[in-house]
Amino acid sequence: MKNELVRLRREIHRHAELPFLEVATASLVLRELADLPVRTRVGRDAMDRTSVVDYPTAAQLQEAAERAIAAGFDSATATATAADGTAVIVDIPGNRPGPTWALRFDMDGLPIQESNSDDHLPAREGFASRTAAMHACGHDGHTAIGIVLARLLSDGNFPGNVRILFQPAEEGARGAAAMIRAGALDGVDRFLALHLGHSLPAGLAVGTGVGVQATVKYRVTFAGVEAHAAGAPQEGRNALAAAATTILHVLALPRSSKATTNANIGTVHGGTATNIVPASCVITGEVRSDSGDTCEDLLARVRSIVAGAAQTWGVAADLEITAESTTLESDDELVDEVVSAARRLFGEAGAQRTALMAASDDATIFAREVQRAGGLATYVMVGGANRYPHHHPLFDIDEASLEPAVRWLDDIIRSADDQASE
Ligand SMILES: [Zn+2]
Ligand SMILES: [Zn+2]
Repeated sequence: MKNELVRLRREIHRHAELPFLEVATASLVLRELADLPVRTRVGRDAMDRTSVVDYPTAAQLQEAAERAIAAGFDSATATATAADGTAVIVDIPGNRPGPTWALRFDMDGLPIQESNSDDHLPAREGFASRTAAMHACGHDGHTAIGIVLARLLSDGNFPGNVRILFQPAEEGARGAAAMIRAGALDGVDRFLALHLGHSLPAGLAVGTGVGVQATVKYRVTFAGVEAHAAGAPQEGRNALAAAATTILHVLALPRSSKATTNANIGTVHGGTATNIVPASCVITGEVRSDSGDTCEDLLARVRSIVAGAAQTWGVAADLEITAESTTLESDDELVDEVVSAARRLFGEAGAQRTALMAASDDATIFAREVQRAGGLATYVMVGGANRYPHHHPLFDIDEASLEPAVRWLDDIIRSADDQASE
């Protein structure tokens, strides 16, 4: 199993792709699962791209398809995934009653030029990225784990059902919401996401990440009316002034005594010339908190500031959410289950209940959705012995972490009999 995981991980690594452009990666997943007795959904049946902000352009999608085809992937599959979306959902039925699980594996890389240093295993072993993207977060390993797990579970010898979610665009936090809109969580009562790395020892199994922050990133477009700044300023409606009013009030939002809060405006672009009343201005910003509710409250306040500023200056304003992830509130009951499975497989020293996860992940949106419907969720981690931090050009995971991750998830699913909720 280990060799197969390494083979897949390396092939995926070589073809790293940016969010929503995972055409070669999705084609690889579909190729590797083609002969299994499972139900596979792709394209529009797996994700709804209609309200995704900043979705890749037609030219970018076509380039991704051409690159995948040139690299030897099936041309019909590559063309279809480029046109309709790169998400892949695999449903595997078990042979007896039990819970319906959703397991999330993200597939995207980052806009990082991978190191070609001899100190970097992918460069030394010849599987460094051949594209402008890099797997610097371990998602190559996640995808390989998802494929091998799907093959193992296709024997059906487990209670309930397993749905494997191959997610696009985790980086930038847009892919999970697009999959949920396509029904990816329908009927799901248990959710697991897995992440490799986190500077933990190779193969260490962690029941849940803690310390995950909620974040909402947004863009506001103000639209006013142009006019000569001296000749007829009374005819103008100043979009830049509305943006400026918004910025000052957002930065003056009160702190909370109950949770950490952060509100930032990151960019401002507006106006055309010094003697014209500026009719357009676009700002981007984000709010963060260690409480999901507080984060939602901050966003609600930003919305009312925007509406008030727009009214004050007589302009129109449109606020779009460009990315969203929330906090992680894993269910103790499920964490207990996964930790006891880890202890069974790897012993006391190979298992740990919690570890700090100092990052965001939109798997939390999946988790929140399942929990709101009455289900259970956790976000497990497997140590990758990475010597460099995530999103670094020298980031690499120890390939020895792949097999324990598969064995652990496989065991969790197969041993759910005792705790089966149905
Ligand atoms: Zn990342
Ligand atoms: Zn990641």
